[in-house]
Amino acid sequence: MKIALLSRNRKLYSSRRLIEAAEARGHVVNVYDVLHCYMNISSMRPQVRYKGEVLDGYDAVIPRIGASVTFYGTAVLRQFEMMGVYPLNESVAISRSRDKLRSLQLLSRKGVGLPVTGFVNKPDDIADVINMVGGAPLVIKLLEGTQGLGVVLAETKKAAESVIEAFMGLKANILIQEFVKEAGGADIRCLVVGDKVIAAMKRQAKAGEFRSNLHRGGSASLIKITPEERSTAVRAAQTMGLNVAGVDLLRSNHGAVVMEVNSSPGLEGIENATGKDIAGIIIDFMAKEIAEGKGKSGQSRTRTRGKG
Ligand code: ADP
Repeated sequence: MKIALLSRNRKLYSSRRLIEAAEARGHVVNVYDVLHCYMNISSMRPQVRYKGEVLDGYDAVIPRIGASVTFYGTAVLRQFEMMGVYPLNESVAISRSRDKLRSLQLLSRKGVGLPVTGFVNKPDDIADVINMVGGAPLVIKLLEGTQGLGVVLAETKKAAESVIEAFMGLKANILIQEFVKEAGGADIRCLVVGDKVIAAMKRQAKAGEFRSNLHRGGSASLIKITPEERSTAVRAAQTMGLNVAGVDLLRSNHGAVVMEVNSSPGLEGIENATGKDIAGIIIDFMAKEIAEGKGKSGQSRTRTRGKG
């Protein structure tokens, strides 16, 4: 296969591992910085160009698109789709998953377990929303946040009201969420490929912190997940229409709840925690999909899955 890897830096662990795994299997991989790709959007002859060269003859494209470049990155990926190139994750699914609110709404329609979450516009309605999510302590999340930044634990009703009002005053969009205290500062990252969880790890927040992000000093370890957790993670990925996803779960006293579905999951933490060749599994999955004729845009299995 000839594969285009959209990544801003080929030296990043995940990019490096995907290149290694693909080359070890005899595939050709070229890396393109998505911000340096440009497009010719003309009738019947869509092109992606890079430094004067037309990117032609690709079988597959692997998007590793950072949150800060979602708009341009998904436009480039969509252009590859218009050319009939198989996307490991589709542009529409990536856009969907980048919007936390839209993601939760879609997951709720499918009956996937979620922390009780509110979204509100008028300060007058804050008190009712706080009651609705079960009162304090509760979690307030900036819609635009990543890597745990903009996620605040408000211990009391008074603190919650003040923080929510402050964010609203700044015109920031926020989610107000039930605090899953019983998770004990741990979450579970499930790596979904196709219709399987191929690896799972537990991330534990450092002492005095409730956010378990590895970027916030959390530590990773191996975990055995239950069949219910497995099926929740797979359903979450499928609802978003993602072939490859990092699904973050919390163990709540009302079962597994999904916090987030990540469309460009990092491979370093989970390969180290599990010792699995996850990059290899991803490349093998992609080769199989293409061999089964799911390679052409418009025929992909995920295309009909996630509506909305
Ligand atoms: P980000 O996308 O910025 O990583 P998350 O929504 O994943 O933000 O939250 C960051 C971390 O905070 C999670 O990994 C989890 O450990 C903790 N957390 C988030 N929401 C809740 C919640 N409702 N209850 C308990 N812990 C939470």
